[in-house]
Amino acid sequence: MVSTIGHWMNGAATAGRSTKTQPVYNPATGDVQASLLLATPEDVDDVVASAKRAFVDWSQSSLSVRSKILFAFRELVNRRAPDLAALITDEHGKILSDALGEVQRGLEVVEFACGIPQLLKGEYSDQVSGGVDLFSYRQPLGVVAGITPFNFPAMVPMWMFPIAIACGNAFVLKPSERDPSASMLMAELWREAGLPDGVFSVIQGDADTVNALLDHPDVQAISFVGSTPIARHIHARASASGKRVQALGGAKNHSIILPDADLDFAAQHLVAAAYGSAGERCMAISAAVTVGAIADPLLARVAELASEIKVGPGRDATSEMGPVITRASKDRIVGLIGSSSDQGAVITLDGRDLTVAGHEDGFFVGPTLIDQVTTDMDVYREEIFGPVLSTVRTDSVDEAIALINANPYGNGTAIFTSSGDAARRFHREVQVGMIGINVPIPVPMAFYSFGGWKNSLFGDRHIHGPEGVSFYTRAKVVTSRWPEHREEHGASFSFPTAK
Ligand code: NAD
Repeated sequence: MVSTIGHWMNGAATAGRSTKTQPVYNPATGDVQASLLLATPEDVDDVVASAKRAFVDWSQSSLSVRSKILFAFRELVNRRAPDLAALITDEHGKILSDALGEVQRGLEVVEFACGIPQLLKGEYSDQVSGGVDLFSYRQPLGVVAGITPFNFPAMVPMWMFPIAIACGNAFVLKPSERDPSASMLMAELWREAGLPDGVFSVIQGDADTVNALLDHPDVQAISFVGSTPIARHIHARASASGKRVQALGGAKNHSIILPDADLDFAAQHLVAAAYGSAGERCMAISAAVTVGAIADPLLARVAELASEIKVGPGRDATSEMGPVITRASKDRIVGLIGSSSDQGAVITLDGRDLTVAGHEDGFFVGPTLIDQVTTDMDVYREEIFGPVLSTVRTDSVDEAIALINANPYGNGTAIFTSSGDAARRFHREVQVGMIGINVPIPVPMAFYSFGGWKNSLFGDRHIHGPEGVSFYTRAKVVTSRWPEHREEHGASFSFPTAK
């Protein structure tokens, strides 16, 4: 039986006025497991209108009411984490433990947002002039929308909505059409937590739905996470319609391995960072940059470890890596691997022909290691978003850092070394937003903000953490004097200065 997935408006699931549908696959089997309703322009108008109505009261709710609802939501997500993880595994393909990990990382943002009374504290300056005080505070924006990618169907939305809602906004989520079910369960949990209807909504759809949100006059801000071409489009179109926008894009994350690194430690971590979640993480390492003579022994160990990875369906507790998201994605990855040998690289470990017994129609690609890659090859220039690690050999740290800085992306990067001096130089000189020192996937904790540089982020504010609070609010500065002081300082026609 193929189920139908619709929208969440006004605190309830609904088909809205949608009739157009799109299949949702189980990547481990290749089967269609659900049919997703795609919003009409009228559905977008309806969801924004209900969010706008809900904003009126929600923006006036006390900080203690908001924080109580956030705590309740936190408990519910924690309790239902296994259910959320199962939905993610069935639609995305990642293994269950990895899906649980993403729910946990999302929960950390909810926990951060539980402290909203502290986060929204303003500033106060007493007696800036005779009888005059000055204070600042922040207010919510109104209806804000989030557009999210397939690779973290619970965590990435949770980078956005806990903070947006805690700040007093009404949030409309447009999840990826490939794995939409986690959003619907989270909507149910918000209702159970006591969030008023309309403060959190889900609208399912494709590019047309996104564009309707970008152009909608009642949407004040857009948070986007996805690929670079779409991030660029979102930033330009939402900015043109006067919205505040943060658009996080794709990545090509490099890891430098210096000759003084602990070889086995580096190999183990590179393998986990390159092949975990089938390489479908925006912080996955996809380029290993070796310096000097460590290349041969390191790559031999990486190949050995990668060949031992158990690839299989995410529901199987013995699987360490699942399928990729779609057949088209598999075909694209297989094509890129093939192009690398055509262009002169050496495929050390080849995952193109992998089949998983009992899951022959699943979208599986095995771990792949490519050596002798150069920066002009397609496999280096493209974001592969699959279980492929390319190796670029260099002779010096200078060459390795210059290579990273010449790359158009700047999301994450890492260095493996035992030299504090090299590590310090690396983090100061590299033009990348998130940096790991012997930590290959340096995703900041929720109380810091997440964001890349260059083509990995369009807009000026990173996501979640303090910059999230700043993104979802705007500041007011009040200069205040009470009438009893009027006689002391008569009005003047010259520009006011402190007395
Ligand atoms: P995607 O860009 O294809 O889709 C992201 C969202 O945009 C989806 O909701 C989709 O419906 C919508 N969309 C797609 N095409 C559109 C169009 N033409 N106009 C308007 N909206 C459109 O990304 P994806 O394949 O779902 O996710 C993988 C990408 O996301 C990778 O590039 C990955 O690096 C990136 N990503 C980045 C981060 C980060 O923090 N920088 C995090 C996760 C994923």
